[in-house]
Amino acid sequence: KLYNEVQDLKGNIRVYCRIRPFLPGQNQNHSTIEFAGEDGELIVSNPLKQGKDSRKLFKFNKVFGQAASQEEVFRDTQPLIRSVLDGYNVCIFAYGQTGAGKTYTMSGPSLSSKSDWGVNYRALHDLFHISHSRRNSIMYEIGVQMVEIYNEQQIKYCFLDLHTLGIWNTTQPNGLAVPDASMHSVNSMTDVLELMNIGMTNRATSATALNERSSRSHSVLSIHVRGTDLKTNTLFRGCLHLVDLAGSERVDRSEATGDRLKEAQHINKSLSALGDVIFALAQKSSHVPYRNSKLTQLLQSSLGGQAKTLMFVQLNPDVASYSGTISTLKFAERVS
Ligand code: ADP
Ligand code: MG
Repeated sequence: KLYNEVQDLKGNIRVYCRIRPFLPGQNQNHSTIEFAGEDGELIVSNPLKQGKDSRKLFKFNKVFGQAASQEEVFRDTQPLIRSVLDGYNVCIFAYGQTGAGKTYTMSGPSLSSKSDWGVNYRALHDLFHISHSRRNSIMYEIGVQMVEIYNEQQIKYCFLDLHTLGIWNTTQPNGLAVPDASMHSVNSMTDVLELMNIGMTNRATSATALNERSSRSHSVLSIHVRGTDLKTNTLFRGCLHLVDLAGSERVDRSEATGDRLKEAQHINKSLSALGDVIFALAQKSSHVPYRNSKLTQLLQSSLGGQAKTLMFVQLNPDVASYSGTISTLKFAERVS
């Protein structure tokens, strides 16, 4: 049933909204979310400023309320992810202010418990499972890349300890691989978790402190699938990019200076470039402006054409985030 749903989609772009719960200590009486309906309707208002036109209605393909589990969110993402095994290219983004739950949705709060896993680990787990179940007819190989984009530059992750993981030969041009990032073949979740641990350790010890930087960089996990149809001996490829975007909050120009201002300008530029690309694709425009940012250049072959795109729009329900919530929703409105 879910497969049909994906095939029935008119466009290849869908937008889901996810509202994170209040955190311990946050005042729950001041929620900006007035209504979140399963059919995709969302009503937002500012509880501290009652007024006639203070309520705003938005429409998504789906809205996940504060109680939605990681599993529920994945269930509605799974068909897109599985289509990669049929040779589709898919991009999944998490967009929103810092603290709105992007990393929670994409990676999850921890790796140790499977119920915490976000979309990316669940996706890999599912791809291994399905590819294994098809092994009598199709032989699949799966490779992963990790890339981070900071200040319009790609930061390389160097995986130091690769003895068990092996590197995919990326000299063969396939138009999908992210250039200048090594691709590692993985056969199981154990391989993936090992690779992630190495990657995270290397990130944490790199020159720019991780926590300082992570909300201001885009992190991209790319999963490449190569399938060989054993009957016809033909080869096909699919690719899944999972993107945890930099925080979308606007930096007050009067306050930011130096590096902070430069970072903010790069983030604004790349997020609006991404918005412009998705908008052009949604409009079926003949010109899609991929060249305006590093991120859209990197993902070009997986954005547009037959490729499928999903954007998670993440919201923090707290009234203190109201203006950020509205600007996040305006971005979403434009691309959906
Ligand atoms: P972002 O990556 O957008 O900056 P995080 O994913 O780090 O935001 O989330 C901010 C905080 O909220 C974290 O403590 C995270 O664990 C928590 N959080 C986010 N989404 C949820 C959720 N759906 N359920 C429970 N806690 C969440
Ligand atoms: Mg984050």
